[in-house]
Amino acid sequence: MAFLGIDIGGTKRVIVIGDPKGRPLAQLRRPMEQSGDWRADLATLVEDIRRLIAETGSGSPGQPLRLERIGISVPGPVDAERGILLNPPNLPDWHDVAIGRALREAFPEFGNLEIRVENDANAAVLAEHAAGAGRGVEDLVYLTMSTGVGAGILSGGRLLRGAFGGAGEAGHLPIEWPGRACRCGLRGCLEAYVGGHAWGVRLREVVPDSSQVLARAGGDRQAVRPEHLVAAARAGDAFALEEFGRWLDHLARGIRHLVMLFEPERIVLGTIATAAGESLCFEPLRRRVARVVWPRQAERLSIVPAELGAELPQRAGLAVALAGTRVMASAL
Ligand SMILES: [Zn+2]
Repeated sequence: MAFLGIDIGGTKRVIVIGDPKGRPLAQLRRPMEQSGDWRADLATLVEDIRRLIAETGSGSPGQPLRLERIGISVPGPVDAERGILLNPPNLPDWHDVAIGRALREAFPEFGNLEIRVENDANAAVLAEHAAGAGRGVEDLVYLTMSTGVGAGILSGGRLLRGAFGGAGEAGHLPIEWPGRACRCGLRGCLEAYVGGHAWGVRLREVVPDSSQVLARAGGDRQAVRPEHLVAAARAGDAFALEEFGRWLDHLARGIRHLVMLFEPERIVLGTIATAAGESLCFEPLRRRVARVVWPRQAERLSIVPAELGAELPQRAGLAVALAGTRVMASAL
């Protein structure tokens, strides 16, 4: 029995065949095609899946590999119940694509194949729970910390999805009122302060000429990105340290909402926080969070970096296949 995981990103995609314990058996990584026609891109994806299935084999001569289920991680909002990719900002050609149904139709030989679709934050919390920093933790929050901010939330071991699949939009929790404009159209959102995109825009405006941040961007203000600030802060640059402290203050306010609502035992932070590391990010963040929640909450909460890192795309789709939502047969 085998499971297929697909991780679709804005720039690359990974197809993985795994065993029932989620261990990857074979994989294929490729740049994500964006030809302008999702049907053509999907056809290439299906070809790759067929090739990987054929190459992997079932282990028994003459017996083809039998797929039990497919899990897909996609970069944006989904209708998980109906297997529809809604409007992923990094995949402009893939709006309102019924990817679940399209894949089922592409593999009629697997009959009533179950296909599960989740956004990348939900897939990440499932993957970190299965094989990373959230092992054994049933009340777990994963915060994506890259261009935007999103949350995957496990409550009592169940993925929190909301009535229509849109729960977990932690990037749009208000941390200032009314606050800065956010790309989502609202104001004061966490993402408008700590998301990589918004932070980059701010840094390009406020970085002083004398700061190492600018030097690390090759002296080009328009090239300044959060990773330059993190590198400069690690090297002790005064502006970078102060700015990073402000970033942590905002993040702590967002975490306060999550603690009050979900009482997670552990919060796992992705990209920017993980790159910044323990002494620059996690240790001071824990102190800040302890100041904005009740002592009994702070005592029992752990805030840790994601463990899967570069392995996440390989694990995310498989984790969805093993634990995500069932796509209803009636919707396909
Ligand atoms: Zn927003």
